[in-house]
Amino acid sequence: MDHFLYKNGALFAEDVAIADIAATVGTPFYVYSTATLLRHFTLFDEALAGMDHLVCYAMKAASNQAILKTLANAGAGMDVVSGGEYLRAKAAGVPGERIVFSGVGKTADEIRLALTGGIRQFNVESEPEMEVLNRVAGEVGVMAPITIRVNPDVDAKTHAKIATGKSENKFGIPIARAREVYALAASLENLEVIGIDVHIGSQLTDLAPFELAYQKVAELTEMLRSEGHNICRLDLGGGLGIPYARSNEAPPLPIDYGKLIERTVGHLGCEIEIEPGRLIAGNAGCMVSEVIYVKSGEGRDFLILDGAMNDLIRPAMYEAHHDIVPVIEPAPGAEQTPYDIVGPVCESGDTFAKQRLMPPLAAGDLVAFRSAGAYGAVMSSEYNTRPLIPEVLVHGDQYAVIRPRPTFDEIINRDTIPEWL
Ligand SMILES: *Cc1c(COP(=O)(O)O)cnc(C)c1O
Repeated sequence: MDHFLYKNGALFAEDVAIADIAATVGTPFYVYSTATLLRHFTLFDEALAGMDHLVCYAMKAASNQAILKTLANAGAGMDVVSGGEYLRAKAAGVPGERIVFSGVGKTADEIRLALTGGIRQFNVESEPEMEVLNRVAGEVGVMAPITIRVNPDVDAKTHAKIATGKSENKFGIPIARAREVYALAASLENLEVIGIDVHIGSQLTDLAPFELAYQKVAELTEMLRSEGHNICRLDLGGGLGIPYARSNEAPPLPIDYGKLIERTVGHLGCEIEIEPGRLIAGNAGCMVSEVIYVKSGEGRDFLILDGAMNDLIRPAMYEAHHDIVPVIEPAPGAEQTPYDIVGPVCESGDTFAKQRLMPPLAAGDLVAFRSAGAYGAVMSSEYNTRPLIPEVLVHGDQYAVIRPRPTFDEIINRDTIPEWL
């Protein structure tokens, strides 16, 4: 459920008309619903209520500080994957003891940042990383709390670009090697082993791969404990999928995911962490765009929008589907015609949808891309010297621009011309 609904024939974000935001902010823009963000966070938090737990929002999904602060105020921790994300979480007021540092390529500088500023744990992904972490922790003069990310060799059955838990992926250490890698960690004097981490992929629409992976984590916990390791925290990753095509998708619910966690690892008495990103932010955001032209082509008509692949790259990158709805509610039974929906960028890949049935639309009309809150704004670029589009946060009947649209001067003046020119 989300809070983008038609009221009296117009699309609203909570109690704010999307068309009103467009009139002041201009198009295209991203708009997020506070109530939806909080609802999704709370669903996870309640699903784990029977266990000691922390929901660490994977902030790479949508990292605006206003979003981070909204979630942190509700009790969320953060999962970060870079030094920049770590600093951004801190800037939003998240204390270090609620920040988990994931990622396969943490540099010594990033590690130092987090050790100095305070960190809940590092999810370590390789032996070389472990050696660097041990060295830097020694230099900073602190013990680094770690879990080791194991790769359970489970097929997440999701898009190849977002599957991470098969042995051919770059993530984690093979679970078969866990014993020796934990022994190495225990021998390094500045590391404190506290648990196990696993994350098998994103946009999972079936619970079975989670069940397989968490069963393996449970077995591993008992094995490592028998070897004398103190396994008291299990980070079970993120990845629960969302319905992108509302008419025909019904992915599993957080409550059932919580039951699965309780069933597979609940008996171990560990503190549980999860790292959902997409499910918290995805359906809490829309990208709103204006039709620039309706163009008739050979046997097909094009809706040319002012939003493009640089603003929302998921269709070009993952062949992703987004529901695209008119901001003025179509009359019941309105005729639908197929359009190719495209942006203005000079690439054929700048296509959001092919032969999508839409009600009649004309230049100047607004459309909203649903489910664009996660991996939308954060993946945008200035390709074609198109300014990053603004982000807006709605809260009840209020809204605020949480990232303004840069001016062309700001973009152009970032270049510096060498003296010899
Ligand atoms: C991307 C990522 C997540 C979040 O995945 P979602 O599908 O957005 O829930 C969690 N943990 C790690 C380590 C990740 O890389």
